[in-house]
Parts: sequence; structure tokens; C-alpha cells
Amino acid sequence: MLKGKKVLLLNPPAGDEMVIKDQYCSFTSKGNYYWIPIDLLILSGDLSRNFTIEVIDAIVEPLGEDELVCRIKTFSPDHIVILSSLLTHKIDREFIAKLKERGLTFKTTFLGDIFYFKSEVMINYDEVDSIVYEYPAPELSDYILAGQAKENMVFKDEFGEIVTTQKRGGRYVSYSTPRHELFPLRKYSVPFMIGDVVSSILTNFGCTYTCNYCPASSVEYRQRTTEEFEEELSYLKSIGVSNLWIRDFTFGLDPKATNTILEIIKRYNISWFGLTRAERINDRFLIKLRESGCYLLMIGVDTVKDSSIGSLKRKQRTDVLRGNINKVAEYKILVLVHLILGIPGETIIDMVRSIHFCASTKASFISINFFSKRSGSSYFDNESINFTNRKTLDSLYFENGDKGSCLLVFLNLYALFIFYLRPLRILRILSNVKTRRLLVNILKTGFLHILKLVRINRKISQ
Ligand code: SF4
Repeated sequence: MLKGKKVLLLNPPAGDEMVIKDQYCSFTSKGNYYWIPIDLLILSGDLSRNFTIEVIDAIVEPLGEDELVCRIKTFSPDHIVILSSLLTHKIDREFIAKLKERGLTFKTTFLGDIFYFKSEVMINYDEVDSIVYEYPAPELSDYILAGQAKENMVFKDEFGEIVTTQKRGGRYVSYSTPRHELFPLRKYSVPFMIGDVVSSILTNFGCTYTCNYCPASSVEYRQRTTEEFEEELSYLKSIGVSNLWIRDFTFGLDPKATNTILEIIKRYNISWFGLTRAERINDRFLIKLRESGCYLLMIGVDTVKDSSIGSLKRKQRTDVLRGNINKVAEYKILVLVHLILGIPGETIIDMVRSIHFCASTKASFISINFFSKRSGSSYFDNESINFTNRKTLDSLYFENGDKGSCLLVFLNLYALFIFYLRPLRILRILSNVKTRRLLVNILKTGFLHILKLVRINRKISQ
């Protein structure tokens, strides 16, 4: 049954690049994978209760501009919710302006990293009628219906005056079950999916840790109720999705709720993976993780320079990191460690130490990013909103046009070789990888990543 207003959830094209821009971070995909944008996904539940909605993910489809305009014209939305980002807001806004020039009339809501962290700047752009702060945002329906919202939004009222509402408070986050099936599920991929279809789910929102280079440290932590989580899980099973990425910034922050969540997942026969901190890990947790169908845990190492609490406010101990990474591997759960190269203040020796630290653990995989001053981090500055060189803000590139960039790319390649050229690691991967699809994905991603790095290196050296 068609309901009142028509609302389009849009992930606009980002030129030739696959820019990933959900969860308050934006960066170019290292391989050719592209996962479901969880911000739009979460909004889809509440919006579909009140409006006729359509989802267009122009990046994953992929859609050229003419084809996209044609689809938007056919749907003729009253309101467009645009997933944007620091890296793409200029082209996203230009695209919206073009739609209006072609005679379409609609209101807009923008969301994404820079719109959350710098809403007071971004609301001033002509194309932006409103912004939601936290993307679990039931109040967006009120705004679309009546042009008003009590919290969690900034918008222009009927006279064009900017109205800033309060940010949300409270310990819990609540939203209707997202409409996964409205998204082109078969087109999304994640290197660690084990079947043909993977989707994403949250058990919590934000993070309680304080790492000052990470946007999540500026996002207030909230827990999702276990009842809502189970409702979504049951719905996912009913539409045939049984491989999930739990997209929490850090899984397991509330021990009691986590315990219940793991019991629930176990009942639904789901295979899943997610990200946590080494400090959350203990034997009891690992037993429950295994029983619940967790086959891969991502653990942030980021850098070992800042052991205990230093200027990065990361608060970690290398003995705990090593011990708990190895413990996960002993429970036959694959471990992927995250490493960041080029964090301000790091010397080459620091980076080499971090690389060798990761290589000396029993982790099966390593994911390496270059530091970028992400919005929401302590390193971000307002001048970067209208950047002149996008690549200085993208963790795939780290291009400052100097010799340092070349060195970082070299260190990245060095890390990959040091990490993977170990027979025991290869054996561990082969004996723990569950499906051929997973193995093929991993090999493909690794190959494409190395290819991109070599290309970047060549460009920098020219
Ligand atoms: S790096 Fe990880 S632990 Fe630290 S704030 Fe970000 S999400 Fe939380």
C-alpha cells in the first residue's frame, strides 16, 4: 500500500571511486568491495513505517548520472535522504543542485561524517535543508511530515532560519527493524563474507574508548535493546540472510547485554564477524563467541608506540594485546589486526616496531591504513572541509606529494610481506577458513590492494 509522501534513500555516485562513507568515516575501498551503508539501512526501518520509500545505492549498482537521474525522476520523491561525507560532499551537493535545475522539487536531509561533526558549517549550504546527527533517527519522520523535529537534527524552517535541536541523550538507542531487502544485497561484498549474501547489524552505537584519531571516540555510546536486536535477527533469517557483520565500533562494550546477545545469536544459527578491543577478551567471552557462530574477530592494534596512555589516548598494553590476540586464535577464530601507518609523531622505527609486533602474533590477517585526519578526530581542522587535495584526507592514499608518502607506501608493502610470508600463518589461514568463497575473497582483496599500492607508489615517485 502506498503511503503519503515518497522518500528516497540515496547513496550518490562518487566519480570513478568506490568511496565507503558510512559509520562517520569516509575512505576509498582498498579492493573492489563495497558493503551496505548502515546509516541508510538503519533509517529505512522507521521511514518505511511512515512513507513510501525507495533505496538507490548508485555506487554499488553502479549507476551513471543519466541513468540515476532517470530513476529519481520516475520515483519523483518529495524528500531525499543523502548519504554524504567529507570526501564527497561537494559532488553530492552538485548532484542535488543539478536535480533541482532539471525541475525536480524535494527537500533534503544529509547525513555522514562531516555532516555530523560539522553540522553548524554544513547546514549553510543551499542544497542542505536538514541534517540528522545520529542515524538511528526516528525523529526524521516528524521532520519530513511537519518540517519540525524535537532533537537529533538541525534544519532550516519555513522561513529559511536555521533551527538547531539538542543532541540525543540516554543510554539506549532504538529504531524499527531496518528493511534490508530494499537494498541490492547481492551486490554488496566484504572480504570476510562466507556466502553470496552478507548484511550488517548493530548491537550498540558509538564507542566508550577515547582514541583521539578516531571519529568513534566523539560519538556518544548507546546500547541497543536485546529485544530489538532479536527482532532484526529473526527478520534477517526470514529473508534468507545468515551471514552478518556486526558493525559495532567495538563489540562487547556492555558485558551483560553482550552475554544475552550471544545467547540470542546462537539460537539463530548465524555466521558472523565483528570488531572488538583486545581488552574485552577473556576465555568465557571466547567460548560464547565460538558457540554463537563468530568466525572472525577484527582487533585494533593501530600502533604500539602509544602503549599505556599517551598522546593518542588509546590506552592499551602490548602484553594484553599479544596475549589476547593469540588467545582468540587458539579458539580457532580467525583474527584480523588493524594497523595505522603515519600517525602524527610516529617515527619510522615506531612504525617498523608496530609492523613486527603484528607479525609476531597469531593473527591470520592484517589490514593496514594510512593515517588521515578524519572529521571527528582531534586532528581535523575546518580548512579541510573544502580540501584542495582529497587524497590527503583518504586513508587509502596518504598523498602529501612528498617523499614521506612514498616511504609509507613502501612500509605498507613491507608490512604485508613480513606478515604473510610465514608458513605457520598460511597453514592457520588454510585450516580455519570455512568456505571457498571466503578464501577467494581474501586472495582477491589482497591482490587488488597490492596492485593499488603499487600504482599509488608509481604515481608518487613520478
Ligand atoms: S579506535 Fe576503536 S576503540 Fe578507539 S575510539 Fe575508535 S572504535 Fe573505539
